[in-house]
Amino acid sequence: MADNKYNETLARLRAYGQEHLLDGYETLTGAEQAELLKDIDGADLAQMAELYRKALRHQQGGEVKAEELTPLTPVDAEKLPAAERERLTKLGLELIREGKLAVLTMAGGQGTRLGHDGPKGTFDLGLPSHKSLFELHCDRLRKVCGTAGAYVPWYIMTSELNHAATVDFFRAHGFFGYPEDKIRFFPQTMITPLTSDGKMQRETPSKLLKSPNGNGGMFVSLKQQGCLAELQGEGIEYLMVTGVDNCLIKMADPLFLGALAADNDAEAIAKAYLKRSPGEKSGVFCYRGGRPCVVEYTEIPRECAEATDAAGNYVYGDCNLLAYVFRMDTVARLCDAGMEYHVAVKKLKYYDPAAGAQTEQAGGFKFELFLFDAFRALGSLKVLRVKREDEFAPVKNLTGEDSAELARQMYIDYMQRSGCAMDNAKLIAPKNKIRMQTPLVEMDGDEMTRVIWAKIKEKVLEPFIDLNTEYYDLSVQNRDATADQVTVDSALATKKYGVAVKCATITPNAARVQEYNLRKQWKSPNATIRAILDGTVFRAPILVKGITPLVPGWKKPIVIARHAYGDVYSAVDTKVTAGSRAELVITGPDGTETRTTVKAFDGDGIVLGMHNTVASAANFARACFNYALDKGIDLWFSAKDTILKVYDGEFRKIFAEIYENEYKARFEAKGISYFYTLVDDAIARVMKSEGGFLWACKNYDGDVFSDMLATAFGSLAMMTSVLVSPEGYCEFEAAHGTIPRHYHKYLRGEPTSTNPVATLFAWTGALAKRGELDGNAELVNFARTVEQCTLELIASGRMTGDLALLSTLENKTVLDLDGFLGEVAAAVAEKL
Ligand code: NAP
Ligand code: MG
Repeated sequence: MADNKYNETLARLRAYGQEHLLDGYETLTGAEQAELLKDIDGADLAQMAELYRKALRHQQGGEVKAEELTPLTPVDAEKLPAAERERLTKLGLELIREGKLAVLTMAGGQGTRLGHDGPKGTFDLGLPSHKSLFELHCDRLRKVCGTAGAYVPWYIMTSELNHAATVDFFRAHGFFGYPEDKIRFFPQTMITPLTSDGKMQRETPSKLLKSPNGNGGMFVSLKQQGCLAELQGEGIEYLMVTGVDNCLIKMADPLFLGALAADNDAEAIAKAYLKRSPGEKSGVFCYRGGRPCVVEYTEIPRECAEATDAAGNYVYGDCNLLAYVFRMDTVARLCDAGMEYHVAVKKLKYYDPAAGAQTEQAGGFKFELFLFDAFRALGSLKVLRVKREDEFAPVKNLTGEDSAELARQMYIDYMQRSGCAMDNAKLIAPKNKIRMQTPLVEMDGDEMTRVIWAKIKEKVLEPFIDLNTEYYDLSVQNRDATADQVTVDSALATKKYGVAVKCATITPNAARVQEYNLRKQWKSPNATIRAILDGTVFRAPILVKGITPLVPGWKKPIVIARHAYGDVYSAVDTKVTAGSRAELVITGPDGTETRTTVKAFDGDGIVLGMHNTVASAANFARACFNYALDKGIDLWFSAKDTILKVYDGEFRKIFAEIYENEYKARFEAKGISYFYTLVDDAIARVMKSEGGFLWACKNYDGDVFSDMLATAFGSLAMMTSVLVSPEGYCEFEAAHGTIPRHYHKYLRGEPTSTNPVATLFAWTGALAKRGELDGNAELVNFARTVEQCTLELIASGRMTGDLALLSTLENKTVLDLDGFLGEVAAAVAEKL
């Protein structure tokens, strides 16, 4: 039986002069013999013979004739009017949002020529982050998806050689944060190369030497692997195809997609870049016999390659960038159309049975189907010319032309040019991102702090953490759109999950209502949130070497605890005309009224009624006692009970009782103290103190004194704030506002040296708290590391402009926002 099979195979091979493939057959094990016969069985020997003839013809001279070719005029993306670019981009984004686009990355190759043992996509480009090509592509894809608001299905065409390694790589990297169910890997078909004498070879004694059948094999493979049906089933209307080795490729480029979608006459669109010299090693777009096509540099007649127009531009100068979008029905049609193989002369490495070892021979033939051949089957092809330096940096060799070295530099240059902050941070890719069990409530905000917010996430957090947040957009626009419901929802979510982080938000005044065209002068979000959570705001300055407090005696931070309920913040006030009498009327539960005259006005006046509750004051007191105990610091409480005997007297009494009954013993055990003093006395003592205590203030006092403390300790940009509710829910934020002055500069495209520290510490505070509650030590450690790295960076003299003005350090470097965050992230990456 086995002999029969052997004889049959031998006969078949002899007919094509390939019988050497069975040399040494008798030395193989039974299993190996079976494997070899099966492999040979799968090879199309007639096709190989035909391909060999073609290869020889090919060597004898190009087949393309100059008179067959006519130029193809591209659309120059750079020359499109801004409004048109915007229209096409919007159209592309809409299609993405509607789920009409899928992307396909051709990633069948190995990194051999890059000296990399593994799939090409896993090659580390040598950026500070050590991100692989796959991850760089994924970053860009995710970015577009984020803008569009939908994930694009991502098809990755592997080869038999690297399929498993590719899938493993993605899995090991958590799919780079892309939804796993949106990524589909499929292998492309393989074909055997031939040595210069037309012989097939083996890779091992029992396996044929094979290589992927080229990117044009994509269509066949898509169909064979069931992807075509899947794409059609999902209602995909456009397929964008790109190669893995271009590190500047714009994944899911909306403009590119829009340019095809807007043109009903085009079946597909391709990107091109301008060639620099006639001999440039790239195929060019043109018409051949009236059909769109790409003519390879090896095939194009010299006079065509060199031809220039009156302006001196190459007539055949638009090189194939290897980025296309096809309409899905075109893809379906191409899956059925046969294509012709191209021949490449290459060195082959194979098994030599005589030597029992690997051998190499130059001048072998590899056969590939080229995707652009599909164009000949198209009625029309649109070509979009783009800027080479922005979009084309192929990684083919380790050094020299198309090298990793050049591509890396182009990538860095591009990122810097586009202001994408190509600092170290962007590029950091830790092996395993920290996971979060419970979502953190994320409240996004307005203006410059919204910009800071996004950058902190992108540069400092997301590279290290698999961020798990429940996102609420508290921008003034969204508050307006939701009639402020979003603020209420975010506060309720904080009650549900326990920890929130909030960006600064605009509290609209009349000017803001006009500026943002608001329906209403919405309440301050902080007031809304505090009213729902109740509680106390703790504000602590961040002390750092080189920034000396204005008060020389202060050595340690002074933390302010601000009661966050009632008093003037929920007061009613009104104007009073001369001759009126203002009374305080209290209607008891039984309807009885008690009246106290506030003032009988003989002239015009104003009057205010404010309140607080015993419960809230008690909660405030407990929050302060707990905080002091937790941090092991003294607690001071100040009010003005000599004047407001009842009102502030009540606060004083509540604090005293709770202390005696609940905290005294614990305070004494910890060696810390509590005392009450008048607010004016407190101020004097604060000035003379060394710091290192908690100062509990009533709502208004806390508001005012925290700004005083922030300034005196250095800057409002170095003041953190956390709202702690009686139940222990925490909401972290920066103490400063939305910094509109910097925002307007930013909008004008000017660099800003805005200080992100307080916002960053709001995040680290929240993450650490989340980590504590979840028993997630890694997360806590991460948060503390970020804080430490930030302070060390500033202490080393690298800081934002506001701090540079204050710092007493000798050598200071002012960093812009991106630069600063980038250096923080780089330091964190090193530490973790
Ligand atoms: P602000 O946004 O804090 O800015 C005041 C000034 O302080 C800035 O112009 C800037 O000075 C400096 N500054 C503040 N933070 C800075 C930082 N991180 N880096 C560098 N400099 C910083 O206060 P605002 O202008 O009074 O208020 C603007 C908006 O914020 C208002 O709509 C207000 O409602 C809102 N706000 C919100 C919150 C909150 O959500 N928690 C708190 C306060 C205010 P230079 O211009 O001199 O550089
Ligand atoms: Mg204030």
